[in-house]
Amino acid sequence: MSGINRRQWLRRLGTAGVATVAATGSPGKGQEPTRPTQVVKRERLALEDFQPKSMLHVSETKVLRSRFPVIDVHTHLTIWARVKNGVTLGEEIKVLASPDEVLHLMDQKNIRLMVNLTGNRGKGLEEAIQRFQRAHPDRFMVFAEPGWDHFDHPGYPRWQADEIARAHQAGAKGLKVVKTLGLYLREQVTSGPLVKIDDPRFDLMWEACAASKMPVAIHISDPEAFFLTIDRFNERFEELNNHPDWSFHDRDFPSNRELLEARNRMFTRHPKVQFITLHFGNNAENLVNVAECLDRFPNMYVDLAARIGELGRQPRTARKFFEKYQDRIMFGTDAVPNGTSTPQQILSAKLYEIYYRFLETEDEYFDYAPAPKPPQGRWQIYGLGLPEAILRKVYYENAERVLRIVA
Ligand SMILES: [Zn+2]
Repeated sequence: MSGINRRQWLRRLGTAGVATVAATGSPGKGQEPTRPTQVVKRERLALEDFQPKSMLHVSETKVLRSRFPVIDVHTHLTIWARVKNGVTLGEEIKVLASPDEVLHLMDQKNIRLMVNLTGNRGKGLEEAIQRFQRAHPDRFMVFAEPGWDHFDHPGYPRWQADEIARAHQAGAKGLKVVKTLGLYLREQVTSGPLVKIDDPRFDLMWEACAASKMPVAIHISDPEAFFLTIDRFNERFEELNNHPDWSFHDRDFPSNRELLEARNRMFTRHPKVQFITLHFGNNAENLVNVAECLDRFPNMYVDLAARIGELGRQPRTARKFFEKYQDRIMFGTDAVPNGTSTPQQILSAKLYEIYYRFLETEDEYFDYAPAPKPPQGRWQIYGLGLPEAILRKVYYENAERVLRIVA
């Protein structure tokens, strides 16, 4: 209780509806002496105002630097400039931070390399590559993105495949596919029926990635709760309430399961493409399913980005998963410079310290995001305490292999 003492606090409560009732009568033999009993009238507290402080006396390990150098495979240092109904329009990008600003943090936090996934295409892509990758080839990599706004042009499949080859020529190291595919892209780009993830019109694009040895970082679907009614039973109620546009409940959206099944049908047709399924296989709540998919698709990998909240609340299952699939997991954060609406992914020293603590320590019950309230659900997480060999793989070895980085 800060600032006020117990007597003041009781007085305040008194004005809020507490009566102190003095018990009468003397205690009988063997009974505790009766104390005055407080009858507290139940208060109502808005959920958004609830910020409980844990009373657990448990160890808190500060991990300021990762034990081994890190490759963050999932950041957004540049982003598309124009978007309509969830679909990127045009080639322009916004540069969200200068390399110098980012490099300072990287040196501090032992981050050897960052992959900027959202490099867009054409002129925007060239600008992102120029500013980051060409200026600091050992510190940044840039991925390209499909030209969704060309989807309804005649000859799109061939054009898209050629565009991948051009992006590769320009220096792009991979392709990023945002959840636009499956949830926003429509037959007439921003209108009409939704286009399916396994639509054959993308087959040439996937194969062009395989031909250029460009891994595909793919974000399919979203947390399961985003497909459910936003009500008191929804575990992401506050988050969805703050971002109602993140809900894919109802309307003409497929279910989470349908999206993942369409993704798997597409994976079956393209065994030569290396797929980094972002946000822990696009399904961090269901590690049984992610494991089945990894067993089924040897060309599939996962990253951790923005999912330590899910992994850290099932630490025993997650730890076993990391042991079994230690060659398939990569470090990623989804970090975006600046901004306030998604504290779990704002590029900062604190963000990396939480990821390192989660992976390296066995600390218990701590925040998964640098925020006064847990932004992705009201729970805390537990560290995995991974052994050194697994840490090396997750921090950099797996990414080095898939991204073909020569150490
Ligand atoms: Zn992302």
